[in-house]
Amino acid sequence: MPELTGVGVSPGTGSGPVRRFVEVSLPSPAQAVPHGDPHLERARALAALEAVAVDLEMRARHATRPEARDMLNAQSMMVRDPGLIGGVSGRAMEGATAAVAIGRSFQIYRDMLAVTGGYLAARVADLDDLRDRAVARLYRLPMPGIPVSDEPFVLVARDLAPADTALLDPAQVLAIVTEQGGPTSHTAILARSLGIPAVVGCPGAASIAEGTIALVDGASGVVRLDPSSSDVERVRRAAASRATAAGAVTGKGMTSDGHPVPLFANIGGPGELAAALAHGAEGVGLYRTELLFLDRAKAPSQEEQRDVYREVLEAFPAGRVVVRVLDAGGDKPLTFLPAPGAEPNPGLGERGLRLLRRYPEILTAQLAALASAARGLPVKLQVMAPMVTDVADAEYFVKACRKAGIANAGIMIEVPAAALRARDLASAVDFFSIGTNDLTQYACAADREVGALARLLDPWQPAILDLVGIAGHAAHEAGMACGVCGEAAADPALACVLAGLGATSLSMNAPALPLVRAALAAHTMDECRHAAKTARAAASAAEARAAAREHLHGLRDMGL
Ligand code: PEP
Ligand code: MG
Repeated sequence: MPELTGVGVSPGTGSGPVRRFVEVSLPSPAQAVPHGDPHLERARALAALEAVAVDLEMRARHATRPEARDMLNAQSMMVRDPGLIGGVSGRAMEGATAAVAIGRSFQIYRDMLAVTGGYLAARVADLDDLRDRAVARLYRLPMPGIPVSDEPFVLVARDLAPADTALLDPAQVLAIVTEQGGPTSHTAILARSLGIPAVVGCPGAASIAEGTIALVDGASGVVRLDPSSSDVERVRRAAASRATAAGAVTGKGMTSDGHPVPLFANIGGPGELAAALAHGAEGVGLYRTELLFLDRAKAPSQEEQRDVYREVLEAFPAGRVVVRVLDAGGDKPLTFLPAPGAEPNPGLGERGLRLLRRYPEILTAQLAALASAARGLPVKLQVMAPMVTDVADAEYFVKACRKAGIANAGIMIEVPAAALRARDLASAVDFFSIGTNDLTQYACAADREVGALARLLDPWQPAILDLVGIAGHAAHEAGMACGVCGEAAADPALACVLAGLGATSLSMNAPALPLVRAALAAHTMDECRHAAKTARAAASAAEARAAAREHLHGLRDMGL
């Protein structure tokens, strides 16, 4: 049975016939016959861009999920970007055909994004998609997109752009496999939020023939082609068991013997509150505030920040909200906060708290906005700093919080040095929250955006479990809370292991909450601890996974 391996980014298994994404082969811009009238070429190019923007707005209006709506609206704004429009106009007036003017203008943005690396480089696929849509429009070709099918299918594509994934119907799409894309690509984010099993960065995927039966494991990243009927039946039963398990347990997160492990949602803004509440989040474990700062010429005012934060805080009157201060730099550069000079390795540069220490006024304003947002509300507000490395960083942040009147100040443990010296840090702060995404990237020296490094980016690696264990133990000794808010917490088996390693709460994308809740409820804390111990003793991620499962018998009944 042929097998392909990529990066599993959305757990669960799905099996069915492959339908390939409709790719339109566009004529090369050089083939375009110029009209010889620059005004006409300019008008054609601008009309094509506007038609794409209108189409995206229309899709946004029909999108039912807020994250899809936001993404599509952001895309339509990109097509209407004055810089882009100006570039296209200028090139057409200089004699380029409409297609060439569009192609070259997008190319400039594309090159800029590609060199930034990280989060923004992952947006290159979005730009390519917008360009292709505009050129398809110009030639009156069908828009590239999701195939239409009478039966559910496994969607296979070279890469997927937000405009495509946003309208995916989870009842139609059994699983997604893409040849390109990394763990933080839009495909990965949306697949997770829709609960569709997905594998990205899968070499060879783009050449899977239409109609081939594929069995996709969105946890391990393995895609089996032409599986046996018994394997398909096993997958079908597992999917049914997962659905039953996810609906069976409600209420607060806890192990079967009653150890509470509060379950929180990761959000990027008020738009994600509805999903968090619908999936029974007990609060917010990671509010990534940087989304409010992206695409701005200057920082949002203190008042604007306060109003947005208050909306989030009001959603959990009896719960807890952990807000992370601006995590800019690295993969999330902000135009108004330039790092000094070019950084050859932005991921290792002035990002997170390091950048806030350079621009203290941004931190002061954000903390003041948070303090005033929380005033008079019953919610427990906790504020934490990203990219803390040592005690000096921690003390700097806690001092700033206290000055703003914020009583509960913590740090993310996502730099290996911080995990290793967690005992020193514990005496300086009020809580820890472990960011397994960055912790894995830094511990393994593997850029988290690079699909080809998937093997090294697996949080099941015993080295990562060791770091989590060290931080968890230090927090326990200090009598302090230590949550986990990286993507690792969304894996039901790993969630049990993290609890066994000392995580006192888990925070994840909201759709992952029900299965994690069910997995915890199916095991005692002792079973979680044994699973953690044997996983740490393993020599590889695969062995750690297998060893942990020996102690987590409940997973099989849940179809996991
Ligand atoms: C992490 O690094 O694990 C984390 C939760 O933060 P982010 O993914 O936003 O860097
Ligand atoms: Mg991080």
